[in-house]
Amino acid sequence: MADEQQSLFDDFLADCQLDGTVFSKSTKISAKPDYEIRRSKRRKKSVGAFRENGKTIIVAPIRMSLKEVHGYAQELVAELNGHFDKLASQELLEQRAKFVAKQYLDVDVFSTHPVPVSISWVANQNSRWGSCTPADGKIRISNRIQGMPQYVIDAVLLHELIHLIVADHSPKFYEYLNKFPDYKLAKEYLAGYSFAQQNYIGD
Ligand SMILES: [Zn+2]
Repeated sequence: MADEQQSLFDDFLADCQLDGTVFSKSTKISAKPDYEIRRSKRRKKSVGAFRENGKTIIVAPIRMSLKEVHGYAQELVAELNGHFDKLASQELLEQRAKFVAKQYLDVDVFSTHPVPVSISWVANQNSRWGSCTPADGKIRISNRIQGMPQYVIDAVLLHELIHLIVADHSPKFYEYLNKFPDYKLAKEYLAGYSFAQQNYIGD
């Protein structure tokens, strides 16, 4: 066992003793918290948190005791949940879509489209960032983009909004799309994200 792993394991033992838990090398924490703890060499004192595939990841310094990490984690999870609830709100998505449509399309798709337009977050849309069914006015946006930079979200919204006017990816479609200055950048961001997801091996 490398020195670093050894010290990690020692910490783990010390923490179990603190909790009064009976342990063995294979002991697992029974009341499983809804987050995953990752240790980081780069972190010296502070604990951070982020979301990955809908799961909260807590990043903690290698030498911080598990008890202390769990203490920080409660607060961070609550904070992140609040942040994501806000980002995930239906209202915010609709507001943003209306703003994007007004900004980049010459037509007010929300009032001129033959059937009422609805836009909603969807889970489990793993192969696409968004989809649009012009016939029933339904746009679905993958919740994987929640928390991504605004220009990325706007690009996905605009792409689907244009489909209300142009069903395919013909030159007319790109005429609208090209009005969005950061579309290429957004595409690259999403491609990078997909690549990282498929090739993720942790740190
Ligand atoms: Zn499309």
